[in-house]
Amino acid sequence: MRRSAARHTSRTTGPTGTRRARALALIALVSILPLVLASCGEPEPVDRRIMLIGIDGLEWDLMKPLIDEERLPAFARLLEEGTWGEVHSLDVLESPVIWTSIGTGKVPEKHGVLGFVKHGDRHEQTPVTRNVRRVKTVWEILGENGASVGVIGWLATWPATPVNGYLVSNYFVFEQPPESGRTSAITFPEGLSEDLSRFVVREDDVDDSRAAEFTGEEVPHEGPERVKFDALKGFIASDETIRRTGLHLGGAMPVDFFTVYLRAVDSPCHIFWVDSFPESGQGATAESIELFGEVIPRYYEYMDEVLADFLELADENTTVIVTSDHGFEGPERVGDAYHLGIRMHDPTGFIAFAGKDIVAGGELADASVLDITPTILALMGMPVADDMDGRVLAEAIDPSFLRAHPVTTVDTYEDGDGDISGESDEEPIESPLDDEVREQLRSLGYIE
Ligand SMILES: [Zn+2]
Repeated sequence: MRRSAARHTSRTTGPTGTRRARALALIALVSILPLVLASCGEPEPVDRRIMLIGIDGLEWDLMKPLIDEERLPAFARLLEEGTWGEVHSLDVLESPVIWTSIGTGKVPEKHGVLGFVKHGDRHEQTPVTRNVRRVKTVWEILGENGASVGVIGWLATWPATPVNGYLVSNYFVFEQPPESGRTSAITFPEGLSEDLSRFVVREDDVDDSRAAEFTGEEVPHEGPERVKFDALKGFIASDETIRRTGLHLGGAMPVDFFTVYLRAVDSPCHIFWVDSFPESGQGATAESIELFGEVIPRYYEYMDEVLADFLELADENTTVIVTSDHGFEGPERVGDAYHLGIRMHDPTGFIAFAGKDIVAGGELADASVLDITPTILALMGMPVADDMDGRVLAEAIDPSFLRAHPVTTVDTYEDGDGDISGESDEEPIESPLDDEVREQLRSLGYIE
C-alpha cells in the first residue's frame, strides 16, 4: 500500500524532484517537530491491511441475547475492542443489490445491479452476473492504485475479471467440484479454482452427525423434516467451503485488502425462522419446532467460530470490518397472508470496525451500507470520490489518524465522468450453473 499512496501523492504534488526536495525537508523536520508534520505536511503513506468480512443477514436483535449469554465470544471481542452499531440498508432488500452498494459506495441506480435476476426478465430469470455492474468496486480502485487484493465469494462477481491479486467468484460454491469445468472464469487467475478444489465441501460431504449439532443430535430420516435437514447441510457446505478457501488464501497469499462473503445466517433464517418463532408464520409443527427450534442461534455460534478463525489472520497492522447487508425480522404479515423471501429481511443490519486506528468502545448511530467503501478509502489514505453516495464513518476512526490523514476527495474513479443512472444495458451471462442458482433462490423464496 505504500506504493499506492506514493502514486497518489505524485499525482497531486507535481514533479518528482519537487516531491523529493520536500520529502528531504520533511525528514529533517520529522526528528524535531513531528506534530508540525502531522498538521501541515503532506499526509504520510498509510501502511495498513484491511479485512472486510461480509456476513449475510446478521440481526442485532438475535445477536444481543447470545452475546449476553457469552455464546458469541468473537463478536463480543469486536464490540469490546471496536466501534459498532446497526447499519441501514437500501430500499431494495435483495442481497446482490446491497452487496454491490457495499462494495462500490454507490446506489443501485448507479451500479446497475437491481436484483437477484435482471428486472423484467421473469421468463429467463438469469441470475445477475458481474458484467451487469458498471461502476468500480473498492477492490478495483485499491488495486489500480497499487494495493494487492483478495476477494472471495462476493455475490455478482462471476465471471471473475482480473484484479491486482485474486478473486474467487460466487459461482465457486456451485461448481462442485470446480474441476468438473462446467463453466469458466470461476476464479481469477483462472487456474486458481483447480488448486482450491480441495477446499470445496459438498452437501454430501456434510455428515448427518455434523448437521445434527444444530438439531440437538436428532437426525430426521424422511418427510419434510428430512428436506429441511438436507437444506441445512447445503448451507453448512457452502459456508464451510468459503471458510476453508478463505483461511487458506488469507494465510498463504496475504494481501493489503482481503474480503470474504458468507451466505451464513441469512439462509437458515429463511428456512428455520418459523421453528424458532412459531407464532410469526405458518408451517411449524411440534416436531419441526423440537428439531429445528435452535438451528438459528446455533448457526450464529457457528459463524462466531468462523469469524474467530478469520480474526486469527489479522495482525496489528490490520483494520477489521464485519458487516451484514440487512437484518432479519421474519415473515411479513398482510391480512391472512405471510410474505416470505426478501420480505423477511429487516432494513437494518449489523456493522463493526476493530483493529488498527479504530476507536475502542465506540458506537455508530447512523451508518449506511453506502458508507463502507468511502470509509475503507479513507482508512487507506486515499481520496473518496464525489460520485459515491456514502460518507466516511469518521466516528469509528482514531482522531489522530484523521488529523495525519485528512479525508480528501476526487470527482470520480470511473473511467468516464461517472454520470450514469438507470438499468444496465448489459444482460446477465447464462451459465450451466443457472438451474442450481435459480433453485437456491427459489428455495429461499427470492424468485418464483
Ligand atoms: Zn435473505
